Amino acid sequence: MKTGSRRSKQCYEEACRVIPGGVNSPVRAFKAVGDYPLFIESGLGARVTDVDGNEYLDYVGSWGPLILGHRHPRVVEAIRECLERKGTSFGAPTELETEMARLICEALPSVELVRMVNSGTEATMSALRLARARTGRSKLLKFEGCYHGHADPLLVRAGSGALTFGVPSSPGVPKETAAETMTASYNDVEGVIELFRSRGEEIAAVIVEPVAGNMGVVLPEKGFLETLRKITAGYGALLIFDEVITGFRLAWGGFQNLVGIRPDLTCLGKIIGGGLPVGAYGGQREVMELAAPAGPVYQAGTLSGNPLAMSAGLAALQELKQGNPYERLENMGRMLAEGLAAAAGEAGVEVTVNRCGSLLTCFFTRGPVRDYRSATRADTGAYRVFFQAMLARGIYLPPSQFEAIFISAAHGEEDVEKTVAAAAQAFKEVKVWYNN
Ligand code: PLP
Repeated sequence: MKTGSRRSKQCYEEACRVIPGGVNSPVRAFKAVGDYPLFIESGLGARVTDVDGNEYLDYVGSWGPLILGHRHPRVVEAIRECLERKGTSFGAPTELETEMARLICEALPSVELVRMVNSGTEATMSALRLARARTGRSKLLKFEGCYHGHADPLLVRAGSGALTFGVPSSPGVPKETAAETMTASYNDVEGVIELFRSRGEEIAAVIVEPVAGNMGVVLPEKGFLETLRKITAGYGALLIFDEVITGFRLAWGGFQNLVGIRPDLTCLGKIIGGGLPVGAYGGQREVMELAAPAGPVYQAGTLSGNPLAMSAGLAALQELKQGNPYERLENMGRMLAEGLAAAAGEAGVEVTVNRCGSLLTCFFTRGPVRDYRSATRADTGAYRVFFQAMLARGIYLPPSQFEAIFISAAHGEEDVEKTVAAAAQAFKEVKVWYNN
């Protein structure tokens, strides 16, 4: 750690007495890279400060929401104004919700109606329920290493913390529920076609991260998403794009806009909440109108669409729309990816850097990394050494090999240069570790 982390250690010990594992979400734990997590005191722009007063360049960005960085003035102002002039929650509709829905529908041509929820987990869970109701079928197809939140049917061969901590299929999920979920390998077009040939009439939906971010970043190969679109349409199943990470990150709207594919349902979260708890699912009117009270499929939420989250999310989206930082994010992403690959090469460490815009992962393996199996060939021991060496140089990376680095618009080229310089040293430490 940088200049000591005594307070973080104490905080962690205290937290463990009253919170399972000391954290409210497993991905925050440092088990895969060390022992205890840093406890964060504050964040500003691209930086966070821990409770010991150490400052770090932050590449986690709250796992995606903070594309504008910490405490962006426009977001802060919107929250303040909402608090001072409106309130935190009414359990009754507000105009803010309509404004948010209108903005999402404008940004995503596949979305005619959208329902706000409180998390990505709620969004995927609810989208799946709609798909099952719509088709009268129960089976779901997901891809190994993709993570879609922690609802029972989706915790089968899941990525993110479930993968990091070795529980991709969680105990506690009834086997009858898990049996409803079929899995295929990401990018395996033939595998999908085969599954549809044998069980296609039973499949309600295919859910996919259009760019996978939860086994580390894995890009869809040409033809993969197109096949999913075609085959689901052919068999009367719904295609669900889980754009909880990719929505408004890789382009205005979603990754679907970049590839020109219209899924039946889209799940959103993270960025659209501006750092407050949010999720959303949307799609064509005739499917979405199955949701209560328009239709019979029940789904509800006491705090759904609450004014504070809507204000923060609207401010973030308006800033993204006007500021259009995507080209700059792409450039910084490229700079960082190329810098990391070159620094690793110079140190004689084999890595594969996968990147899409401002999302990237440096896998400690020769590659290519194109699915769960190739991702999990990465050397997690090497990542641990790298992570700690970067942390010691003031760079806060995701505490797992199987997560994405998130660059924000608050990062600057000089931050990326600093990161690459730190990585050059960190890769040398990995090399020494390999040699010992
Ligand atoms: N879907 C994807 C692609 C995610 O990355 C996540 C969370 O990281 C979720 C769904 C679940 O979202 P939440 O953590 O808000 O429940």
